[in-house]
Amino acid sequence: MPSREQGTPACRTGRALDNMTTAAKKRKRMTIARFAGFCGGVAMAVKGAEKLLSENEVYCIGDIIHNSFVIESLKKKGLKTVSSVEEIPPHSHMIIRAHGLPLEEISSLTKKGCVVHDFTCPILKKIHKDIIQLKRKGHEIAIIGNPRHAEVKAFVSRAGEKVSVISKALDADALPYARCRAIICQSTISGDLFVSLAAKALGKSAQTLVIDTICSDAKKRRKEAVALAKKSKMVIIVGDSKSSNTMTLSVIVGKHCAVALISSADEVKKNKIRYPLAIVSGASSPRELVLDIARKVC
Ligand code: SF4
Repeated sequence: MPSREQGTPACRTGRALDNMTTAAKKRKRMTIARFAGFCGGVAMAVKGAEKLLSENEVYCIGDIIHNSFVIESLKKKGLKTVSSVEEIPPHSHMIIRAHGLPLEEISSLTKKGCVVHDFTCPILKKIHKDIIQLKRKGHEIAIIGNPRHAEVKAFVSRAGEKVSVISKALDADALPYARCRAIICQSTISGDLFVSLAAKALGKSAQTLVIDTICSDAKKRRKEAVALAKKSKMVIIVGDSKSSNTMTLSVIVGKHCAVALISSADEVKKNKIRYPLAIVSGASSPRELVLDIARKVC
């Protein structure tokens, strides 16, 4: 499992928020989550991309991670984001983003002579391997998640012709009957959604293997965020609305207190902040952005 961003500080000890005095934090009654900042998979992809960009022009199909702040910064360093294999010139360097890429696209890139740098998150790579093994053992695969999400598309490409994607109750009802099925899920969906849709799909096969593939980093973040939300009047979630894990976090935290989804320090509206306040983040928001926002709040 990838480790979290190096140097991720425990802010409540005062180690990271160098510009913020303890007195200011106390006055404002603000807590910054320990699990705020990049997850291990995103940190690895961004670090890898930065290293490559110092030497080559690099292409990526789709956003390397779902965070506009980071994408803009990588764009300035020369990253070219395209929407399809066809847009990448032959023999170029290209990055597989943290969410992974369908096998057919990797194969087309190799045929074009592209140099492929694979920054798929190791947790997702492990799920890819499991999918292929389950398929070989004769399981039909059902994936609970958003069929338009890059991660799910990468799963689908490895799951064989009989794969199904379930994003809502109706999809579970419409599942064809299978002798043997394995149910997995997108790594960032909510536990409640996974349990409810998996339960609906259970009756659609003689034997069913249900595998919880929700990412452990996402679970830790959610647990901490809920604990903070219960002690706060407001939680700022630093992240992008395109990020699935950020939006799931927002729904979970929103059950306990007011939520403000903020993607840059410019969006902080001091007069709307309520205290006690907690600041958490999605997995694709850098710690430095979280700290910038915390300084702006003060
Ligand atoms: S949130 Fe996604 S990219 Fe990050 S560690 Fe989990 S699976 Fe990997």
